[in-house]
Amino acid sequence: MGLPVVAIVGRPNVGKSTIFNRLIGERIAIVEDKPGVTRDRLYGKGEWLTHTFHVIDTGGIEFGETDEILTQMRYQAELAIDEATVIVMITDGRTGVTDADLELARMLNRTGKPIVLAVNKVDNPEMRADIYDFYTLGLGEPFPISGSHGLGLGDMLEEVAKHFPDPNEDESGEDVIRVSIIGRPNVGKSSLTNAILGEERVIVSDVAGTTRDAIDTPFERDGQSYILVDTAGMRKRGKVYENTEKYSVMRAMRAIEDSDVVLVVLNGEEGIIEQDKKIAGYAHEAGRGVIIIVNKWDALEKDDKTMQRFTELIREEFKYLDYAPILYVSAKSKQRVHTILPKVNEVAEAHSMRVPTSVLNDLVTDATIRTPPPSDRGKRLKINYATQATVKPPTFILFVNDPELMHFSYERYIENKIREAFVFEGTPVRIWTRKKT
Ligand code: GDP
Ligand code: GDP
Repeated sequence: MGLPVVAIVGRPNVGKSTIFNRLIGERIAIVEDKPGVTRDRLYGKGEWLTHTFHVIDTGGIEFGETDEILTQMRYQAELAIDEATVIVMITDGRTGVTDADLELARMLNRTGKPIVLAVNKVDNPEMRADIYDFYTLGLGEPFPISGSHGLGLGDMLEEVAKHFPDPNEDESGEDVIRVSIIGRPNVGKSSLTNAILGEERVIVSDVAGTTRDAIDTPFERDGQSYILVDTAGMRKRGKVYENTEKYSVMRAMRAIEDSDVVLVVLNGEEGIIEQDKKIAGYAHEAGRGVIIIVNKWDALEKDDKTMQRFTELIREEFKYLDYAPILYVSAKSKQRVHTILPKVNEVAEAHSMRVPTSVLNDLVTDATIRTPPPSDRGKRLKINYATQATVKPPTFILFVNDPELMHFSYERYIENKIREAFVFEGTPVRIWTRKKT
């Protein structure tokens, strides 16, 4: 099951983006060569206690056409209703209840989705007395918060998390591989989906236990279970917000976060453009397994060097994805489409592989003998111990005498040694350095 989705709605200036930023925090960048990803204000991943969830700031989408607040809010509300597990409606404790608040509450109330009402800008305890007016919105207990001071968010999130599905009820089990197919419009995502699923396409409108409308497609092939995670390209319902670029980026990011393996689809006919790099960058940053699929291979005039040249181009343009295998396919003629799922299996296995600690430490010791660690002003880095902390993606911790002495290039060297020894094709490998003498 994908992560629960928290959608933030409210009229302009109540503090939506301030609260959004509070909820998503900052993820630590661990890659040197940045894939050129710009954080989208609209979408992020939040963590609170044991909960992980998606957060959407619906105020971040501009719907063009209209400046009219009520129209904008109606689109926001529709988006939240379609996407959210829980809707958080933000109001402003300084202005009190406004007509626009009442209107928005009315729209949200019709949906049956869980709604948590927050009264923002309650910066000090004295102001708490004023929040009782907000009961008139008919959304239950108002939670006083202060986005700019970070107050009250814990109580609000506790209420929000009550509506999350129980992760233990995830019926998909351990062995299911979650796959998403991403790429800019028209690269052939829908065609590929159909080509992969073929006759076995099972459309499910509702998977038990989900509160958001489920659009993930489960299927089986050769004894392996998969879930195809929906992306923007697959469901063209034609609502206003669905045609906005930010919305499709958001859907792609969400699909990526919910996947084990991401198929990044390129259009072989058109080559690589900036948008492709951005999309692939999200997959890399999210730490998912990645396979690059060059589609429409049938449509190219080819000679015996075409594939090699295209591969060189991909390696040049997507430097940070050097671990990703590349498949050249045609959704139209089905050429090599049958190789996709076996490759997905391999990548999923690599993505969740564990290296035994003893083997890892032998490897690291051997690597430090071959190429001694860096030193600075007479002090040399010493790696005392290595361990694999997590899988998905494989993440290794090096315990060292002084993390300041570690260089990116040496981290990269260790990563390469690990990759030489084990098959980590298709998955990022992360290395963290921690102090421990
Ligand atoms: P949005 O339009 O709903 O996304 O609102 P913003 O997050 O952009 O905030 C609008 C204004 O309210 C900004 O000037 C913020 O600094 C301010 N603001 C946000 N949260 C708080 C708060 O908790 N207390 C106070 N006093 N101001 C806040
Ligand atoms: P999406 O927007 O990424 O889902 O792309 P679609 O699957 O809707 O495909 C966009 C267009 O490309 C359609 O006209 C498809 O018929 C065409 N197309 C998709 N795959 C192939 C392919 O492998 N070869 C050729 N020649 N055309 C393709």
